[in-house]
Amino acid sequence: MSGIDASLPAEVALSERDGRYLRQAIAMADHARERGNRPFGAVIVAADGTVLQEAWNANGETGDCTAHAETSAVRQVSPRFSRDELAGATLYSSGEPCVMCAGAIFWSNIGRVVYGIDAVRLRVFRGERLDQRDAELSCRDVFAASTHRIECIGPALIAQASASHEGAWKV
Ligand SMILES: [Zn+2]
Repeated sequence: MSGIDASLPAEVALSERDGRYLRQAIAMADHARERGNRPFGAVIVAADGTVLQEAWNANGETGDCTAHAETSAVRQVSPRFSRDELAGATLYSSGEPCVMCAGAIFWSNIGRVVYGIDAVRLRVFRGERLDQRDAELSCRDVFAASTHRIECIGPALIAQASASHEGAWKV
């Protein structure tokens, strides 16, 4: 990497702990890809460091357009943990959450999000195909409209998070 493109979000440095869990989410993204899905993964971790849930994008293998990693992870933790427990949890996502996933995170009461590749850099991989393009509304705008605070950290580990997407999208 050389030079700084001011139009792209700046990479954020992570703590050792955040880096470890984000790498775990990126590993889930690679797992998703191996199973024929878009390369996205998510991990939800409690305040005490307990991994509550892992999930990968299962869109390709299920045909369910809502089977994004983050929404799937939220769907699995929500019945099992209270809103208060989830308020102290962090959702790690290999990519910046889309509008739907940001909404699911809002409803879950999860209070913190750490993500890898940002939506802007992801659009280079998505290209111009309508079935691959995302709604261009940042998760930060969704979180800013929330009735409770949702801390949002990213992009981080951009090189590692981008690697999952190399050659993974239709052109
Ligand atoms: Zn999503």
